[in-house]
Amino acid sequence: AAKEDGRRRARRFNRSMLMVLEQRETLRRSLRTALKEGQFFIEYQPLVQPPFSIVGFEALLRWRHPVMGIIPPGLFIPMAETDGLMSDIGQWALEQSCREAMTWPPHFTVAVNLSPAEFLHAGLTDRIAQTLDLVGIRADRLELEITESVLLERTINNLDTLNTLKMLGVQISLDDFGTYYSSLSYLKNFPFDTIKIDQYFIKDLEVDNKSQTIVRSIIALAHGLGMSVTAEGVETAEQAAWLNKKACDRLQGYFLSKPMPAGRIGAFLRKFTLPVPFGNFPIPKPM
Ligand code: C2E
Ligand code: MG
Ligand code: MG
Ligand code: MG
Repeated sequence: AAKEDGRRRARRFNRSMLMVLEQRETLRRSLRTALKEGQFFIEYQPLVQPPFSIVGFEALLRWRHPVMGIIPPGLFIPMAETDGLMSDIGQWALEQSCREAMTWPPHFTVAVNLSPAEFLHAGLTDRIAQTLDLVGIRADRLELEITESVLLERTINNLDTLNTLKMLGVQISLDDFGTYYSSLSYLKNFPFDTIKIDQYFIKDLEVDNKSQTIVRSIIALAHGLGMSVTAEGVETAEQAAWLNKKACDRLQGYFLSKPMPAGRIGAFLRKFTLPVPFGNFPIPKPM
């Protein structure tokens, strides 16, 4: 009977797996026309420099599927990558973010993520230069975020690419630092302006001594190398206060704001001028 039960469970499991797979295939098929149909849009999440001044926004891509609703990038970007669509989608995201950034206060930066396929694309640096030109945005207002996974391949070309981008005047951030391999040779060899500490180390900062030690060390490491540090995924006032005390340069996370559509930025900026330093928030436990 137990065996029979197990078999039934297995059958049910397979059926739901199949549904998931079918949905993925449906999604994959509609991804091919999503760009043409104008189904992408960008949400922006503020980057804040203590005490409470906004210095820019990270651009986060969204896909509004006509039937399935809003699909997160974690789901469709890997599909776009394997189907060879990410280069065009990424170019759209870059141009759209730069255009929208032109409507913000002129010292605000815009951070755009580059997937591995986009970064390794032979025409990347020309494209970036052309986009800056076309949109008329100052190069130092654009930050490009790449993850370490991008750097695992083709190291010499990667260094060339990064140096060319630096020569254009754009800023480079190392995203999700601390996950993947976190090889310190990347920090020695590549010209990053900023290290973004992955939210994995931020989410339990109040309760985990190890996370505190790691975050403190990454901040010291970055500063020692002349790089700035952004903490991602800051969700509580306590985390913000602690990071501020440890001289973290910029914070990003739900505590400050979730990503928002471009149309909401104006109202957000008007209301978000409270000069409340993070350090004034109560810190319940000694950290
Ligand atoms: P990422 O670049 O590390 O972006 C940060 C992610 O953390 C975003 O997820 C953001 O919404 C989320 N986040 C921000 N604050 C908090 C917080 O306080 N708590 C939690 N739990 N999460 C927070 P999202 O928007 O789903 O994006 C996921 C990833 O997709 C991004 O990670 C980035 O790697 C990629 N991505 C997004 N837009 C683009 C794009 O235009 N091009 C490329 N190539 N990749 C993109
Ligand atoms: Mg990012
Ligand atoms: Mg990140
Ligand atoms: Mg990430």
